[in-house]
Amino acid sequence: MTKLIVGNWKMNGLKADARLRLGEIVTPVSADIDVAYSIVLCPPATLLGYVRQALDDLYICGEATISVGAQDCHAESHGAFTGDIAPRMLTDMGCTHVIVGHSERRHGHGETDAQVAAKAQAAHQAGLITIICLGETESERTAGHHFDVVSRQIKGSLPSGVTPANTVVAYEPVWAIGTGKTATADDVREMHAHIRQQCGEGMTILYGGSVKPGNAAEILSTPNVDGVLVGGASLVAADFVAIARAASGG
Ligand code: PEP
Repeated sequence: MTKLIVGNWKMNGLKADARLRLGEIVTPVSADIDVAYSIVLCPPATLLGYVRQALDDLYICGEATISVGAQDCHAESHGAFTGDIAPRMLTDMGCTHVIVGHSERRHGHGETDAQVAAKAQAAHQAGLITIICLGETESERTAGHHFDVVSRQIKGSLPSGVTPANTVVAYEPVWAIGTGKTATADDVREMHAHIRQQCGEGMTILYGGSVKPGNAAEILSTPNVDGVLVGGASLVAADFVAIARAASGG
C-alpha cells in the first residue's frame, strides 16, 4: 500500500524559506511519488496559496503531485469569526486536506472532541480530506488510560459520515510531539491495532511524534502504520525526503 507522508510545518516559515525547501523536496521525490508514497505538505495558513502555486510551477511528473493541506479550519462556512478560516476558503486556495484536532489545538486552544468533530464535518462538506489527530498525554499513559483516551477521542472527534475516502486518522501521543521521545515499536503496534479495530480495514492510520530519518523505517514497517505525520523534521528538506524514502525501502 502507498504510504502517506504528511509534513506539518506548524507556525514556521516565510515565502523564501518555503520556496527553498520545496525546491529541495520536489526533485528527489519525483521518481517515487504516488508509487511508494504520497505527500501532503501543511504549511502555515499564510503560505497555503503560495506553496500550491510554487508546487505547480515545480510540477513533478504526469498526474503525480504533492498535495497541500491546512493545519486547522473553522466549523462554520462564513461569518463573524475574526482570524478564522472556513473550509471552503481552503479549497479555494488549492488545499485538498486539513489537519483537525492536533494536540497543539486541543491542549493549547482548549479544543474539545465535539469541536474537532464539528470542524471535520464542515471540512468534509467542503470536499476536504481531514487528518484527525488523536493521542494521550504522558500522565494518561502512565496511569494506563491510553487506550480508553484514544477510544473516547475516536468516538467524539470523528463525525458521522467518516469514510476512508474523506478521513485519515493520526495517532500522535502528546508526550512524543516535538520532544524527541518516540513511542516504542510495541507502543505503536498496540495502539495502531486498537485504532484499526475501531476504524476499520480501509482507514489510513498515521503515526506522529518525533519521526526522524533514523526511526522512520522501523515505524513505517510496523503493522497498521499507513504513513507518518512529521512536524520538526519536515522543516529540513533532506530529513523529510529521507523519511519519505524510508517508505520505499530507502
Ligand atoms: C506534529 O506536529 O504533528 C508532530 C508529530 O511533531 P514532531 O514530529 O516535531 O514531533
